[in-house]
Amino acid sequence: MSSCLFCKIASRELSSETVYEDDKFFAFKDINPISPVHILIIPKKHIETIEHIEPEDQELIGELFLAAKKIAKEQGVSESGYRLIFNVGKNAGQAVDHLHLHLIGGKKLTWK
Ligand code: 5GP
Ligand code: ZN
Repeated sequence: MSSCLFCKIASRELSSETVYEDDKFFAFKDINPISPVHILIIPKKHIETIEHIEPEDQELIGELFLAAKKIAKEQGVSESGYRLIFNVGKNAGQAVDHLHLHLIGGKKLTWK
């Protein structure tokens, strides 16, 4: 999708601090990190939100988590632990309408 910010990042039309790329996924450092490790992992396929995934995307979404696991290891947080988050829609504060998995770690994370 030509006007989408994250499609432009994935195609390298816009620059980012890239940490991982393969044929289906692209991962880069969040521009406004909330923890020492804050990576956004996106499918190269433009899908707006989790609400827009279809049965045909089942394998892709599974592989997204395998990519996240690989990136967590590369970022050195596999053993210390990390959080994976999808914000979905307005109430969750989703700001970019291209599916992105936040990988957050590198410090003790608070919860509730
Ligand atoms: P959301 O709130 O949609 O789940 O998360 C969007 C994330 O994208 C935010 O954490 C924000 O800091 C990050 N972000 C927004 N624009 C850019 C950008 O141009 N480059 C990078 N690297 N991150 C961005
Ligand atoms: Zn997109």
